[in-house]
Amino acid sequence: MSTMLEVRDLVVSYGKIKAVKGISFSVDEGEVVSLIGTNGAGKTTTLRTISGLMRPTSGSIRFMGKRIDDVPAHEIVSLGIAHSPEGRRIFPRLSVEQNLRLGAFARRDNAIGTDLKAVYELFPILEERSQQPAGTFSGGEQQMLAMGRAMMSRPKLLMLDEPSMGLSPIMMKRIMSTVTTLQHQGTTILLVEQNAQAALQRANHGYVLEVGKIVLKGSGKELLTSDAVRKAYLGED
Ligand code: ATP
Repeated sequence: MSTMLEVRDLVVSYGKIKAVKGISFSVDEGEVVSLIGTNGAGKTTTLRTISGLMRPTSGSIRFMGKRIDDVPAHEIVSLGIAHSPEGRRIFPRLSVEQNLRLGAFARRDNAIGTDLKAVYELFPILEERSQQPAGTFSGGEQQMLAMGRAMMSRPKLLMLDEPSMGLSPIMMKRIMSTVTTLQHQGTTILLVEQNAQAALQRANHGYVLEVGKIVLKGSGKELLTSDAVRKAYLGED
């Protein structure tokens, strides 16, 4: 399998404070890779830097062999990386369909209708309520919308920042099973989660971040059964 994303020795700072302290990881084509860690570990900062919303202090990011750490954010979307951000960030006054169409802003082709249909197949509720203001949606529905919007750019790599945050167990299951569906449909996924169990169950590989550093890595299964992860993240003795 070929490497799709390669992050090497990445350092990202807010002023003098280093939030990401030299991390390296990679995502192969077709994989689900999970980055787990507690609050403030640097997960969101890492995704924002891959998206081009922040610039690294040092290190490199390669996507399909091309260096992207100095490429503007809108071009990164065009290259095939979509980001469903923490907190969803949907536009509450716009309709569901308008929100989805915004996800296709960087595209110049005519297949947007086809992709809208694919998103509606994935999440039928979005079609049922396509003309409703997005702000009237529940948290889980907003998460579906945020994922659907990200899919509208036809990404090769989909980055999801804490999709399970604040969701009921049933809705969380639904969102997580969609991650697997998207993987089967050919999308590569980088998943950031505080919910280690949910994220590692789905992951081919995982990395554990603690205060800006990767402290553990392995297959999803290895990490789920590792003593360190079980104690620190799964609340087991
Ligand atoms: P969370 O799950 O809480 O979002 P995280 O693992 O995504 O955690 P980040 O949000 O990337 O972590 O934060 C990493 C570190 O950077 C934290 O110490 C945080 O306080 C700091 N940080 C994040 N955003 C800013 C900012 N805008 N200005 C200054 N420091 C920040």
